[in-house]
Amino acid sequence: MQKKIVIGNWKMNPLSLKEAEKLLIEISESFSLIKKTEIIICPPFIYLESLRRLLKAKNYKLKLNLGAQDSFWENIGAYTGEVSAEMLYNIGVKYVILGHSERRAMGENNIDINKKIKSALSSGLIPIICIGENVRDEKHEYLNFVKMQIEESLDKISRNNISKIIIAYEPVWAIGKGTLPATVEEFREMSIFIRKILSDKFGIDNVENIRIIYGGSVDEKNAEGFIKDGHADGFLPGRASLDSKKFSKIIKICEVLNK
Ligand code: PEP
Repeated sequence: MQKKIVIGNWKMNPLSLKEAEKLLIEISESFSLIKKTEIIICPPFIYLESLRRLLKAKNYKLKLNLGAQDSFWENIGAYTGEVSAEMLYNIGVKYVILGHSERRAMGENNIDINKKIKSALSSGLIPIICIGENVRDEKHEYLNFVKMQIEESLDKISRNNISKIIIAYEPVWAIGKGTLPATVEEFREMSIFIRKILSDKFGIDNVENIRIIYGGSVDEKNAEGFIKDGHADGFLPGRASLDSKKFSKIIKICEVLNK
């Protein structure tokens, strides 16, 4: 059984490095003892290097690592505006979110995400792969949609590498302001479905320890249910990760419920 993981996606926030440092310090200093839960903070690219130095200088006794919110599939070259997985690895980043719905909405598809996953894995980053349907329809077409996202984005990933990935189930209809989270039952069913697809493709032994986490309006009030009854392996909060009190409560819930 893998330890729970909480991954904060700061998206395009906050506005200055000073605020980013303040938030990271507030989060890191809000615990006296977190031993089992892994914490990942994914700030905008521009803050990664400074935040890594800050963490090193502070030497907190936490399993806290940094992640990026995207990476490109080529390592180096004429790709204006892109940042490669290898560049991220070289500055000490360990994780990368790939296939977030906000990037898919800008045109990224499963084939792009597949190339990004391969590049992240070969550079030594752990990909956090976001999947999830836009809507739920009565004919359950959304199940085929999620299946295709998994099959296409994980095409030709080796059996050796597959156990390294993290899957974040984030139904698009549950993300952001003014939405409701998925129910615990909806998450539990989807997580069983996802593991079955993974196991059909890569073999049960290679996928039984893959963490399947939940994202979409997760907060300090609903987190416990997702773990206790939904068997979530952790969370990918967006808004709640920008509030140090809410974010640390989510982490404490995971710590208490960690086996
Ligand atoms: C997200 O965008 O990954 C997300 C889960 O956002 P929020 O928690 O704000 O719904």
